[in-house]
Amino acid sequence: MTHTTPSRSPDQVTDLQQLRAGFAGEILTPADGERYDATRAVYNAMFDRRPAVIARATCDGDVVAALLYAQSARLPIAVRAGGHSVAGYSAIDDGFLLDLRPMKKIAVDPHTRRVRVGPGVTWGELDEATQAHGLATTGGRMTTTGVAGFVLGSGSGWLERMHGFACDNLVSARVVTANGRILTTSAGENPELFWGLRGGGGNFGVVTEFELQLHPVGPTIYGGMLIYPRERAPQVCRHFRDFIADAPREVAGGLIMLTAPPAPFVPAELQGRPAVSLLAAYFGDLEAGPEVLAPLRSYGEPAVDLVGPMPYLDLQAITDPGNPPGRRNYWTSSLFTGLPDAAIDTLVERADAATSPASVTILAPYGGAVAEVAEDAVPIGGRSAPWFYHCYGIWTDQDDARHIEWVKGTSAALRPWTRSGMALNFFTNVDEDRVRAAFGDEKYRRLVALKDEYDPENIFRLNQNVRPSSPPR
Ligand SMILES: Cc1cc2nc3c(=O)[nH]c(=O)nc-3n(C[C@H](O)[C@H](O)[C@H](O)COP(=O)(O)OP(=O)(O)OC[C@H]3O[C@@H](n4cnc5c(N)ncnc54)[C@H](O)[C@@H]3O)c2cc1C
Repeated sequence: MTHTTPSRSPDQVTDLQQLRAGFAGEILTPADGERYDATRAVYNAMFDRRPAVIARATCDGDVVAALLYAQSARLPIAVRAGGHSVAGYSAIDDGFLLDLRPMKKIAVDPHTRRVRVGPGVTWGELDEATQAHGLATTGGRMTTTGVAGFVLGSGSGWLERMHGFACDNLVSARVVTANGRILTTSAGENPELFWGLRGGGGNFGVVTEFELQLHPVGPTIYGGMLIYPRERAPQVCRHFRDFIADAPREVAGGLIMLTAPPAPFVPAELQGRPAVSLLAAYFGDLEAGPEVLAPLRSYGEPAVDLVGPMPYLDLQAITDPGNPPGRRNYWTSSLFTGLPDAAIDTLVERADAATSPASVTILAPYGGAVAEVAEDAVPIGGRSAPWFYHCYGIWTDQDDARHIEWVKGTSAALRPWTRSGMALNFFTNVDEDRVRAAFGDEKYRRLVALKDEYDPENIFRLNQNVRPSSPPR
């Protein structure tokens, strides 16, 4: 899956001077050496791709100019925000990379509790700005993830049981379409396009501003991490499942089957060994936190207990150290229809069979606000699923086939308890069948109608692609 074909040289790209004249941001080609290489790099090292041109947009006008230029030069387009697509959508060989990272606007309005966000902003940056006002919205569980691709793919985070997915908190968006039109979308303006943007990905245009609803959160919350040796995972998972069944929506959490890190807080005998980490947070009244989360400590003595008052910003960064960019990634995920003991045991067995110490398997609950939104309110549904899993194959050697096989094997082993409908952002392999299954037939038809209206030529195809009715294939 690694792509290292040589790019077009700049003089093969028609009229680059023409683009430069009308473009405020930086334009890079392979001739720019190290700067070009650093700019084209994405999170997933499986996608070492070499665009012919990288255009670093600073404003709506740049986005319009870039899109029109790329089409006139017949260059396929990739759109890049935070660069975290595990399917490699923000990397392209020989094409045109529209890099939105310079668009870093963050404007918090503490009175309306809303924020306007540029597409170059990451979750770490946005959380920091909103937490200055004691506010937050459902955001990525890693600080380096881009707000843009995350929200457009629906967006799952620790706050979702209280406030829904990130896309449920989208109030409006400004979009540049393939033909260079600039549209505002909201519940009252271009409402069908607004519907499609909340999980339909980058299919309909380039979003140059997101307006998100914020909520009072923290800045100190009660939560943290407990770590147990992996042998205890089946019991810890059962306890946590039973605890969540009666837990209020203010409780968030998840279990991560991982290799215990060589961190100073991990006992030496557990470092480098398989473990299960239980992450939990209580977003209600800080004083009530210890009592609400007390049952978690009744699972028996953990090897690590870092649960206590903590900044919300630290919770948002808690998984950062385990996921540095630049490693090879192959991901899958699914919604559980239920979580019987047999499903838990299978999940743990598969985690034990991981082929790389960097790989992780995650089990986490939905419920609360997630389940209260109507199935067809946004493209991605699956709202009634009680639990979901992610299986992330992560490695640094070149033995891709072995690691990918482990991920696929996990998906197959868990199939008896899972269903379709998981957000597409959690998959490396996204074919047409998976896209259709994720949305379901009826919503897929609605998305195709939107595609026909806003991108009939399928200019935006490097994504979880919804094909127009009669696309140039
Ligand atoms: C380490 C890591 C942690 C993650 N954690 C979570 C998590 O907690 N919850 C969750 O739900 N997901 C999570 N994800 C998945 C993540 O939501 C997706 O990978 C998402 O696409 C990342 O957005 P980005 O802007 O960083 O990606 P990019 O790679 O920059 O963009 C991905 C694609 O989104 C589209 N796109 C991006 N910006 C725009 C725009 N402005 N207009 C139109 N289309 C656009 C394009 O098709 C683009 O190719 C995680 C991914 C990683 C790698």
